[in-house]
Amino acid sequence: MGDLGWIAYPKNGWEEIGEVDENYAPIHTYQVCKVMEQNQNNWLLTSWISNEGASRIFIELKFTLRDCNSLPGGLGTCKETFNMYYFESDDEDGRNIKENQYIKIDTIAADESFTELDLGDRVMKLNTEVRDVGPLTKKGFYLAFQDVGACIALVSVRVYYKKCPSVIRNLARFPDTITGADSSQLLEVSGVCINHSVTEEAPKMHCSAEGEWLVPIGKCLCKAGYEEKNNTCQAPSPVSTVKKGKITKNSISLSWQEPDRPNGIILEYEIKYFEKDQETSYTIIKSKETAITADGLKPGSAYVFQIRARTAAGYGGFSRRFEFETSPVSVAASSDQSQIPIIVVSVTVGVILLAVVIGFLLSGSCCDHGCGWASSLRAVAYPSLTWRCGYSKAKQDPEEEKMHFHNGHIKLPGVRTYVDPHTYEDPNQAVHEFAKEIEASCITIERVIGAGEFGEVCSGRLKLQGKREFPVAIKTLKVGYTEKQRRDFLGEASIMGQFDHPNIIHLEGVVTKSKPVMIVTEYMENGSLDTFLKKNDGQFTVIQLVGMLRGIASGMKYLSDMGYVHRDLAARNILINSNLVCKVSDFGLSRVLEDDPEAAYTTRGGKIPIRWTAPEAIAFRKFTSASDVWSYGIVMWEVMSYGERPYWEMTNQDVIKAVEEGYRLPSPMDCPAALYQLMLDCWQKDRNSRPKFDEIVSMLDKLIRNPSSLKTLVNASSRVSNLLVEHSPVGSGAYRSVGEWLEAIKMGRYTEIFMENGYSSMDAVAQVTLEDLRRLGVTLVGHQKKIMNSLQEMKVQLVNGMVPL
Ligand code: AMP
Repeated sequence: MGDLGWIAYPKNGWEEIGEVDENYAPIHTYQVCKVMEQNQNNWLLTSWISNEGASRIFIELKFTLRDCNSLPGGLGTCKETFNMYYFESDDEDGRNIKENQYIKIDTIAADESFTELDLGDRVMKLNTEVRDVGPLTKKGFYLAFQDVGACIALVSVRVYYKKCPSVIRNLARFPDTITGADSSQLLEVSGVCINHSVTEEAPKMHCSAEGEWLVPIGKCLCKAGYEEKNNTCQAPSPVSTVKKGKITKNSISLSWQEPDRPNGIILEYEIKYFEKDQETSYTIIKSKETAITADGLKPGSAYVFQIRARTAAGYGGFSRRFEFETSPVSVAASSDQSQIPIIVVSVTVGVILLAVVIGFLLSGSCCDHGCGWASSLRAVAYPSLTWRCGYSKAKQDPEEEKMHFHNGHIKLPGVRTYVDPHTYEDPNQAVHEFAKEIEASCITIERVIGAGEFGEVCSGRLKLQGKREFPVAIKTLKVGYTEKQRRDFLGEASIMGQFDHPNIIHLEGVVTKSKPVMIVTEYMENGSLDTFLKKNDGQFTVIQLVGMLRGIASGMKYLSDMGYVHRDLAARNILINSNLVCKVSDFGLSRVLEDDPEAAYTTRGGKIPIRWTAPEAIAFRKFTSASDVWSYGIVMWEVMSYGERPYWEMTNQDVIKAVEEGYRLPSPMDCPAALYQLMLDCWQKDRNSRPKFDEIVSMLDKLIRNPSSLKTLVNASSRVSNLLVEHSPVGSGAYRSVGEWLEAIKMGRYTEIFMENGYSSMDAVAQVTLEDLRRLGVTLVGHQKKIMNSLQEMKVQLVNGMVPL
């Protein structure tokens, strides 16, 4: 509304007209309708528009246009289009420039034009057209609309640019980012770690031309002493209440309460103490309990104590200083009264434990009767108990605790080697080394989401003390299990618990002290990747697919750095969450193949995953990170073909044979050539020639940074030749050209003749007949046979479905 200050030239061309729309609401339009007059050239120039730093802008026009056929007599001169132009300028001076200096954006035509009839009915046949312009290099621009003899009412002009709105992802803040100038450009944007967090892997995301954030990479972690909550980090509060217990001339016993806001599970406490005024020489004790005795103290001396708690995120702040004094030499005093609260606490704990045991006997086991039932029954079983949720802390003797600190393979910074749980004599010890014990009452099971090898997989919620309830997946061990099944089931948790990476499924903990035995992991909303891709066939951009592959490669890099060989990497064993972040899961298979030579071809009652497994692993069980790379190549193929089954319906035996003979899967449809090349690299026969996972990650990063490199697709004809190139009857080698093929079968002398006669690609060669050979001058019967047999061999493979045309 109001005067926009636009300029019309000539003056009798475009007119500014106040109107009402079909609802009689006032609208402001520019109109021109010189349809009966020859040689119209009416310009409408907007005022200067700042582009606000954007280098690509969008212009949405809403207009009505008169149908020339409905104009009696106007047919000769009447037009049904108009032109839109722009002129860049850093300031308003550009206002006086000539029309011929404007750059044309497009000719605008109407999808719907109106007639006299519509006018009578007051029907507004409003057209909407959007055009974009870029790259812009100045601070702003003018738009111009040129009419050459149409009947137009310009109702609205909306000028905008797109941006990826500021967001916090993986504890990093990404600023408002205006999209790039190129419509296929992805801008790599670095995130800044939010307060109280530090970089784990430099956080980055990519801003697409459509204003969407894609492919998050890296993350920040809350600093030691801070915990992640709702995209922020807050510190666990310090211990506030410390009570003295028994005091002798050489020792002081203390007890304390958990911090008011633990903000996580307290893993241990650190107690620092020193003789008053002697702060430079202090002692540190670490304890998992909320009580200690400091001994070896001087009689009749004052000591200062400070306590801090450690959660998974690190240490909180120290408590204030508490000062206690040892007894003087002559008095062996003990504060008996201080024992009373401890006895009361013990009795209370005893009563609660008894109630819990009775509760479990009443409730039966969780998933045996269906998930919903079990959880509601549990609620009835303990209506009056205020159960404190948290991990139970097994009492360990000091020696064990010491060992744990020295040999703790996980969570200790700097030690990053996978420990095979089988090296533990007692597998239960391994579980408790690597997985936290969760109280069953902290878990609410909601529904069954899948069938695992050992029992149902449910979704549900986990409420831990001091933490918000959050969604989890719960794997259960079915009733009637054998000891071996229990061991194997929990073995997966012992492995998973050692990993801490954004692309590896995260273990929350295990329930082993009650039944059913459960493994609790983070919840992945979109389930397994193969099913998800099949359900969403063709729905993702190449960049989104590459983002998924990058995540999987990053998880695999972490596993291979840890010295862990997965052996069952396949899209079905990747889980995907609502942000399309892919995480490697299923850590159950490896030991089966490792320990049992008979199990090489059968596992979990099925077959070794032949289609995903490298030839050397199938042939002589050589499982390495390089064989995982082969499987990764197959996963790439699955992802790019939206969950297609590798090698389709070929039998396992045929797959083994074809791969041994040098055949490889063809490129999926519409697959970027760079990705297919990476697949072929992963499928190198010589495992040392395959790329390492860190190389794969960097290669994918490069492609993501430079999306135009993904534009070259493997086209239909090279798809076929690529399949042929991998096959060589004389061993390895690849037919990248007709010359190479002829050389390989020792018929190189005919290369020139083939090329001269138009047989310059393997596609063309595939059509050659005996007749053609004769015509080309291949007259020796032996040579004809050699060439035809080689062609025949390749065609048989085509017919088998290995290499579909
Ligand atoms: P698994 O025994 O690990 O193969 O799990 C069986 C099925 O349960 C999978 O195929 C998924 O559909 C589902 N599932 C397992 N873990 C999760 C999870 N963390 N989040 C969501 N679904 C899961």
